[in-house]
Amino acid sequence: MDYARLAELLFPHIDKKPEYYEQLFPKRNLPEGAEVLRMAPSPTGFIHLGNLYGALADERVAHQSNGVFFLRIEDTDLKRKVEGAVETILSTFKYFNINYDEGAEIGGEYGPYYQRQRAEIYQCFAKKLVQEGKAYPCFCSEEELNEIREKQTRLNEGTGYYGKWAIWRDAPLEKVEEKLKEGVPFVIRMKSMGNPEIKHTFHDEIKGDIVVVENNMDAVLLKTDGIPTYHFAHAIDDHFMRTTIVLRGEEWLGTLNIHLELFDMLGFDLPKFAHTTVLMKIDETGTKRKLSKRKDPELSLDYYRSLGYHPYAVKIYLMTILNWNFEQWYLKNPGKPIEEFKFSLDKMGQSGALFDLDKLNNICKTYLASFSLEEMKDYLKDFVRTYHNDLYDVYFGNEETMDKILTLGMGLNLKKRRKDYINASQILESISFYFDETFRREDEFKYDREQVDEILNMFVESYDYNDDNGAWFEKVKNIAERCGFTSDMKAYKENPDNYKGSVADVAETIRVAVVGRRNSPDLWSIMQIMGAERSLARIKEVL
Ligand code: GLU
Repeated sequence: MDYARLAELLFPHIDKKPEYYEQLFPKRNLPEGAEVLRMAPSPTGFIHLGNLYGALADERVAHQSNGVFFLRIEDTDLKRKVEGAVETILSTFKYFNINYDEGAEIGGEYGPYYQRQRAEIYQCFAKKLVQEGKAYPCFCSEEELNEIREKQTRLNEGTGYYGKWAIWRDAPLEKVEEKLKEGVPFVIRMKSMGNPEIKHTFHDEIKGDIVVVENNMDAVLLKTDGIPTYHFAHAIDDHFMRTTIVLRGEEWLGTLNIHLELFDMLGFDLPKFAHTTVLMKIDETGTKRKLSKRKDPELSLDYYRSLGYHPYAVKIYLMTILNWNFEQWYLKNPGKPIEEFKFSLDKMGQSGALFDLDKLNNICKTYLASFSLEEMKDYLKDFVRTYHNDLYDVYFGNEETMDKILTLGMGLNLKKRRKDYINASQILESISFYFDETFRREDEFKYDREQVDEILNMFVESYDYNDDNGAWFEKVKNIAERCGFTSDMKAYKENPDNYKGSVADVAETIRVAVVGRRNSPDLWSIMQIMGAERSLARIKEVL
């Protein structure tokens, strides 16, 4: 077979030689030990926790070793490509403050960083492989491939395009020329020389030593439109972008043997590989399972953004599942930037990292409890501007009021700060009752109409805005006694049946009238902030 002629027939437009690219993208000039890592998302419109989890690991290993972290957009699959998805990726990484040194949108010496713009590079190497008899065109249609698969299934043989089943593998040149003349679409396949009977031990930076069976599939390298598959693009790009550690999800372990064979065929040095585990959760039924796009909204990074989770707190949480010794370090070094933690791949879990939203929420609570009033306001303002701009004036029209609300809500006036705040939208929800525009009655009264009216009427009559907390509470106690409740908590606990309830129940009734909820911070303080007019209006509305 005249491979040189075949290569010319298939790629007449490719005139660059492989050496050209070796020179164009030389080895990086980096200090000893520096690692180059990349994140390589596909623009499918769905950007998930796994992407952020991987990106954090990439970023840490690269920057901790004084290396390079870059962003490559893997847009080879047009069917899955979604309009605006690249912008989503970029803005999400920006939100989580994941800073890359080169790549999509910011450029760099090793670009272009969008795979679709690299078609010529892939084709140059496909041409080289064809010239060397290591790759060939395959003109099989979908139907023919299905037929082959059916036959294999019937005969109980492994399915796929390989060995004797690979009908175009050794096709004569004349047959190829004929098809080309007819204009039949073709893909380029690698001519695998592997033997699946042979196993190798392979060292993965996370999983340790694993067994890899040799590949024998003639995997597709270039699709009919001349655009590469993941396998081929990965080998070419990670070689020419001079990646030193390919860190990616463990779903790629299944085709690692193809990648190893490809690097070998192309004569490229093998980078290190690190396969991260999938994120699992314990679901409502107590079973441990993979996080699913359909069932678990918390898998999407959009979830955290739209609820206004603080990006740094989410990162702290992810670090706890990325490196098993992080949590202990963080407890010993509270408030220290996570960059000071020594991150290492061999301290990553080897199987199923457990994602726990409750734990994430707790970390958020602790983190937000370290905020000053000004920090909290800035954080909330950003969120309101982005997601609820129409309510900006409601919340921040009067900053003095907001200061008081947050001081109370955050417990800034207490010896020990409150830890109730999880994310921006939950905070806004928790203070929404202060404003008529966002106030809703959420909880019911515990007593009947008559009883509620009796308590509220007495309260309205006796309320004086100038009372201090003590005087205010004396009046509530007095109402309790007059209505058949008791202000003596001890007596109430001993003989609850002797009373309609305790002073706490009376206070709760007033609280539900003013705040619309059974739980809130100190009611006297809330009424001080809301002012007499608005507070009494809420009660009168009930009456
Ligand atoms: N584009 C691939 C994905 O999103 C990236 C895999 C890799 O990092 O190599 O799954």
